Amino acid sequence: MNEKIRMLTPIVEMDGDEMTRVLWQMIKDQLIIPFIDLKTEYYDLSLLHRNETKDQVTVDAANATRRLGVAVKCATITPNKQRMEEYPQLTEMWKSPNGTIRSILDGTVFRAPILMDAIHPVVKNWKLPITIARHAYGDVYKSVDLYTTEPGTATLTFCGESGDEKTITVQKVDGPAVWQAAHNKEKSIRSFARACFQYAIDTKQDLWFSTKDTIAKVYDGEFKKVFEEEYESTYRAEFERLGLTYFYTLIDDAVARVIRSKGGFIWACKNYDGDVMSDMVSTAFGSLAMMTSVLVSPDGTTEYEAAHGTVTKHYYKHLKGEATSTNPTATIFAWTGALRKRGQLDGIEELAAFADKLEKAVLDTMGDGIMTKDLVGLVDDGFEAHAVNSDEFIAAIRQHLEKSL
Ligand code: NAP
Ligand code: MG
Repeated sequence: MNEKIRMLTPIVEMDGDEMTRVLWQMIKDQLIIPFIDLKTEYYDLSLLHRNETKDQVTVDAANATRRLGVAVKCATITPNKQRMEEYPQLTEMWKSPNGTIRSILDGTVFRAPILMDAIHPVVKNWKLPITIARHAYGDVYKSVDLYTTEPGTATLTFCGESGDEKTITVQKVDGPAVWQAAHNKEKSIRSFARACFQYAIDTKQDLWFSTKDTIAKVYDGEFKKVFEEEYESTYRAEFERLGLTYFYTLIDDAVARVIRSKGGFIWACKNYDGDVMSDMVSTAFGSLAMMTSVLVSPDGTTEYEAAHGTVTKHYYKHLKGEATSTNPTATIFAWTGALRKRGQLDGIEELAAFADKLEKAVLDTMGDGIMTKDLVGLVDDGFEAHAVNSDEFIAAIRQHLEKSL
């Protein structure tokens, strides 16, 4: 072994809960610390520590991410009623850390699948990952609903602080009806657009964006307009330099084109479209355990994590002393994403190269047929795969990694 790879700026490290916390330590001990002189600013976002700090630790971690630019996060428990019973010491039903971090960083979430040779997406022409960017503010998720029973008319009124008012008629109805009013903010749409263009440049992928502006001429038209303004004023030159395309189309046309495509692009979606399409795309690509999730803010600050949760069921088995076959791939790729980005920002080529090698070691291990239980049932007919537990899987990855260094 040569000397460890040096780092300059620390990465923000957000530790988490349950099985993913167990994997987190294994990944660091086996796959990172032996090879890198790891510098992190450590924040313990486990549920009990969030409780002890009255959730200040989450805010601190998000602010550290703004300061340092790159973070890696372990999955964390979002408490619900059942968790309040499981952890009686909780003084409050703390909010989702991801929600808190996302709002502090004003970020957009990009979800991308990790592809391996022996598992083919359900859509057979998909050869490259499709990354979905979901706008995470407003529309139907912050809308108000109303049910009425008699004939009548609904209007929508905006009262400006200046005293100006704007009113339009929604509809006159002759019987029972349902109503809904939704909104979005120009600032949020603009941040979303910036994060999308920035991430497309960072990952050198084309950007697609789709809405239904032929129907929602003002509402969706605003999304289309803001994306165009941002593209023309700030990102076009860099897109052209990199040979990238910004492509706008209607949502129904986008769906048809995505299915026929070979993948390899980012698809920016409005909130509801992103909610639906990300489940469709991730299922078609395989397993939740093979999905990464990246939070990008308009200024390029980036936080990497796995898309899955803390894998509670496996954790309870682990607590009983059973070895589990939990898939660490997405969590490893969260680390490699953060290390690569840190390497790029600090001009440390070895760090970015190490991230590439560790990812290749994971894929080569699976290529040998060594994988966790969740994937064994997904491999192509004729490919020989056998399930190992997480320890064995990580040990096999380490062997590949050592050979490549
Ligand atoms: P989950 O942790 O994603 O797990 C759901 C199921 O998916 C598991 O029981 C397992 O299925 C399978 N799975 C997920 N990841 C896997 C992996 N790496 N390897 C193998 N199998 C995997 O979702 P959940 O059980 O609904 O949520 C558990 C906790 O996670 C909750 O407290 C929730 O708040 C939290 N959560 C956190 C985040 C985050 O921090 N980003 C995201 C989502 C959920 P089998 O049991 O069939 O093997
Ligand atoms: Mg969904």
